[in-house]
Amino acid sequence: AVPVIAIDGPSASGKGTVAQRVATALGMHYLDSGALYRLLGLAAQKRGIALEAEDKLAELAGQVDIRFEGEGIWLDGVKVGDELRTEEAGAAASRIAALPKVRAALLDKQRAFRRAPGLVADGRDMASVVFPDSVLKIFLTASAEARAERRYKQLKEKGMSANIAALLQDIRARDERDTQRSVAPLQQAQGASLLDTTPLNIEQAVQEVLSRYRA
Ligand code: C5P
Repeated sequence: AVPVIAIDGPSASGKGTVAQRVATALGMHYLDSGALYRLLGLAAQKRGIALEAEDKLAELAGQVDIRFEGEGIWLDGVKVGDELRTEEAGAAASRIAALPKVRAALLDKQRAFRRAPGLVADGRDMASVVFPDSVLKIFLTASAEARAERRYKQLKEKGMSANIAALLQDIRARDERDTQRSVAPLQQAQGASLLDTTPLNIEQAVQEVLSRYRA
């Protein structure tokens, strides 16, 4: 089978950047599963579908055309920009991600990313639900404070406005929702090894994942 490296963890843990770099280092494909939830939330808002309309959202998940090309993401033929990375989009994603039919509707879309020579997938349930046969499962986390600081720097670099206290509050609220929900709650999967990146920079985290993969 085509090997999968699953990297799960809370929001703003750096798992996206780490996963992307690990994929590049190994010449593998990369799946940003959070982007699928964010895109679906965005598509729903554009079409005036309520974020709790489970059946309509699941139907929408089957209809939307989502394409990733390099750094770019297209939704129904239109390139999506920074709107996907806002806290608002993250909060919308987190709300629809709590609906079981929505999660089920996105399963095949996620599994379609598994192509030779391999896939690095990041999200919340990569190791537990989407790719339970992953060859390496990492639960990548960092303290809420460290994550708020990283998100702050990221937004600043993009020239977007940001407030540390508000970001910390958002991160705690999202952690709460993601860990407390009844379907696919965020947790360290069985067989996953913990990687706490609070004291690490991105390069150190990447090297740690690579050395666990090669071990
Ligand atoms: O990873 P990211 O912050 O982009 O994800 C946005 C939201 O989508 C998360 O807060 C989470 O609720 C949801 N999500 C999920 N399962 C995934 C990826 C993301 O439930 N595999």
